[in-house]
Amino acid sequence: MSSFCHIHRGIEIQLREKFRKIEEENDILREHLSQNRPLEPDLADQAATASSRDWNVIRYNRNVKLLKDITVALKAIDNDSYGICEMCGEHIADRRLLAIPSALFCIECQETIDKLPCEFGRTGLGNGILAAV
Ligand SMILES: [Zn+2]
Repeated sequence: MSSFCHIHRGIEIQLREKFRKIEEENDILREHLSQNRPLEPDLADQAATASSRDWNVIRYNRNVKLLKDITVALKAIDNDSYGICEMCGEHIADRRLLAIPSALFCIECQETIDKLPCEFGRTGLGNGILAAV
């Protein structure tokens, strides 16, 4: 147990709860996906079934990624390396960590970073501004 544990105890419990809920949802999604067979003679029904299946696959895959992110996050909490912005070193808000367990930056720094790609995109083409970056 280390000195940082108390700071992230709240988020750790919430992440574990989130993990459990996502696992439950994926169990249900797996069931739906395995039972999904193209038996409907009605074309409209078939289309609806197909899109609902696609939606389930998308949601399932998103959940799998989220479960991985939460697993990484929970390990990082054990190592005291979780929830610290890699740019400014401040604590990232619990609300943000819960929404994006893999968040590396606080909301302020993320907003700054989000503005960067187009800047780099322009200058990265070698039009002479690159030296200023
Ligand atoms: Zn920051």
